[in-house]
Amino acid sequence: GIYKPLAEIEDILKSNRDVAVIVDEAYINFGGQTALSLLEKYDHLVLVRTFSKDASLAGLRVGYAVASPRLIASMNAVKHSINPYSVDLLAERLATAAVEDWAHYERNCRRIAETRDWFRQALIELGFMVLPSATNFVLAKPQGISSRSLFEKLEARGIFVRYFPNVKRIEDFLRISIGSREEMEECLNAIKEFVK
Ligand SMILES: *Cc1c(COP(=O)(O)O)cnc(C)c1O
Repeated sequence: GIYKPLAEIEDILKSNRDVAVIVDEAYINFGGQTALSLLEKYDHLVLVRTFSKDASLAGLRVGYAVASPRLIASMNAVKHSINPYSVDLLAERLATAAVEDWAHYERNCRRIAETRDWFRQALIELGFMVLPSATNFVLAKPQGISSRSLFEKLEARGIFVRYFPNVKRIEDFLRISIGSREEMEECLNAIKEFVK
C-alpha cells in the first residue's frame, strides 16, 4: 500500500531500456502522482489501470493500458490475433460512462480514502501496527491476538479479510479491504470484541 515516488519509477525506466516496463497504477487515484508524464520521455513505459478499485466497478472486468503508439500497435496486433473481444460491449459503454463522470470517480475515491484513514486510526488506537496506505486496503498487524486467530474469528462472523500464512514477511499481518463506512464499523466492532 505504500506509494513509490515518480523519481524511483524513473530510475527503473532508465536502467531497463531494452524491455517494456509495466507500471501498475491500480491504486493511483487514492493518492500519488501518475507516471503519465513519463510517457513523453520513455517509449518503453506501459501504464496499466483497472476500474476495479477507484471506480468500484470490479464486476465489470475492464482495465486499460496507456503506452507509446509503437507499443500499443504491437499489443493491438497480438490482441486481434488472440482475443479481439476481450471487453464486451456493455462493459465498454459502462466504463466509458465512468470515465466521463470524473466527479463521481473523485467522490468515490475520497469516500474510500476517508473511511480508510478513519479505520486505520481506529486500529492504531487498539495497538495494531498499521502500514501507511495510499490504496483501498490496510495491512495491519494485530495486537493482543494472532493474525491467524483474528482471521478465523472474522471469517466465522462472515467478514472476509486476507491472511498470508505462507508469506514470511507478512504472516503476522492481515490485509483488510475498505468497504462502506457501515461495513467497516461492523468490522471494527467485531475486531474490538475479539481483541477483548
Ligand atoms: C486489483 C488489482 C489489479 C487489477 O484487478 P482487476 O480486477 O483484475 O482489474 C491490478 N493490480 C493490482 C495491484 C491490483 O490490486
